[in-house]
Amino acid sequence: MQVQRVVLNSRPGKNGAPVPENFRLEETTLTPDLKDGEVLVRTLYLSVDPYMRCRMNDDTGADYLTPWQLSECVDGGGVGVVESSRCPDCAEGDVVTFFTWPWQTHAVMKGSVLQKVDPQMVDGHLSYFLGAVGITGLTALLGVREKGHVTKGASQTMVVSGAAGACGSIAGQIGRLDGCVRVVGICGTDEKCRALVEDLGFTAAINYRQEDVPARLKECCPDGIDVYFDNVGGAISDTVIAQMNNGGHVILCGQISQYNKDVPYPPPLSEEIQETLQSKNITRERFMVLNYMNKADAALCELSQWVKSGQIKVLETVVNGIENMGDAFCSMMKGGNIGKQMIRISE
Ligand code: NDP
Repeated sequence: MQVQRVVLNSRPGKNGAPVPENFRLEETTLTPDLKDGEVLVRTLYLSVDPYMRCRMNDDTGADYLTPWQLSECVDGGGVGVVESSRCPDCAEGDVVTFFTWPWQTHAVMKGSVLQKVDPQMVDGHLSYFLGAVGITGLTALLGVREKGHVTKGASQTMVVSGAAGACGSIAGQIGRLDGCVRVVGICGTDEKCRALVEDLGFTAAINYRQEDVPARLKECCPDGIDVYFDNVGGAISDTVIAQMNNGGHVILCGQISQYNKDVPYPPPLSEEIQETLQSKNITRERFMVLNYMNKADAALCELSQWVKSGQIKVLETVVNGIENMGDAFCSMMKGGNIGKQMIRISE
C-alpha cells in the first residue's frame, strides 16, 4: 500500500523561525500485514502545536519531549479510524487518538497505545478530539482551575494572551463560565479581536500589533487584572503583569513569543517584573497539562457538555492535505490561525 508521510528535512536552528522547507513529503510503502496486537489506521486529522518547535531542535530542552530526527517521520497529536485490526481492544471502524501519531496518511500502530474515543462526545466533529475536547481544552480548563483561583462572586477580571488561538479562545470562555465578570483578550489581528468579542463573548479584545497595549488594558480593565492566562510571555506579559492587582494569579501556560530563541523555559523575567510579582504577592506557577492527566476524563466530559450545549464555541482553521503540514505549522507559529490549527488528512 502506497502512503504519504512527512519527515523532518532540516532544523531551523535554536534561533530562527521554522520554514515549510524544514519538512519534506515522501511516498513510502506500508505492508498492511498486521502482527498480533497491531492495527491499520487511516489518519483523519493531524494537529500542529507550538511545543513542536522544541522538537525541531536536536536538544528539545525538556526531558519529556524527544527531538524529531532528520529524515524520519514526524509525529504529534492525531485522530483516525481503524481500518483493520489484530488487537482485541480495537475493531474496524473505531475512532482512535494518540499523542504521537505519525504524520502519515495510513499507519500500522500497536492497538494498546491508542485511545478509543466516542464520536458522540463531539457531535461527530472528530477534529475536536485534538482541540476543544482534547489536549487543548484540557490545557485551558485545567490551567484555569489549577492555577487561576477563579471564584464566583469575586468580581475578577481575567486577561488572556494568545487569546484567539486554540488554548486562549477556550480559556477565556471558561474564565467567563467560571465567574469572571470581565474577560479581555490580547491577539494579533482585528479579525481575531472581532471573533473574540462577537462570537466568543469576551468583554473586549486588544490587537497588540496595532494598539497601545498598556493604555488599552487600563481602559478595558478599570478594576485592574486578577487572573492572567499567559500563552505568549515577553513584552506583552510584562505589560499585563505590571497592571495586575495584589494577590493576582498568572497561569503560566506557554511563552510562544520566545520559542524561536535560544532561551530556557520558562524564560527568565526582568528584575522589575520579579519585584512586581513579589511586592504584589502575585503567584506565577508553571502549568503543565500532562501533570494532571488523572483529571482528564472528568474534564473532557465537562468540555464535551459545554461544547455540545453551545456554552463553549469552538473556532478552527482547517487546511486540507498532508502536503500542507509544514505550511500549517509555520503559519500557526506566526498567527495565521484563528482557533485551533488543524489539518484534514482524509474524509
Ligand atoms: P495557538 O492556537 O494559540 O497558536 C499560536 C498563536 O500564538 C498564534 O496564532 C499567534 O497569534 C500567537 N503568537 C505567535 N507568535 C507570537 C508572538 N511573538 N507574540 C504574541 N503572540 C504570538 O496555539 P496553542 O493554543 O496550541 O498554544 C498556545 C500556548 O499554550 C503556547 O504557548 C503553547 O506552548 C501553550 N501550551 C501549553 C500547554 C501546557 O501544558 N502548559 C499545553 C498546550 C499548549 P496572534 O495572531 O495573536 O499573534
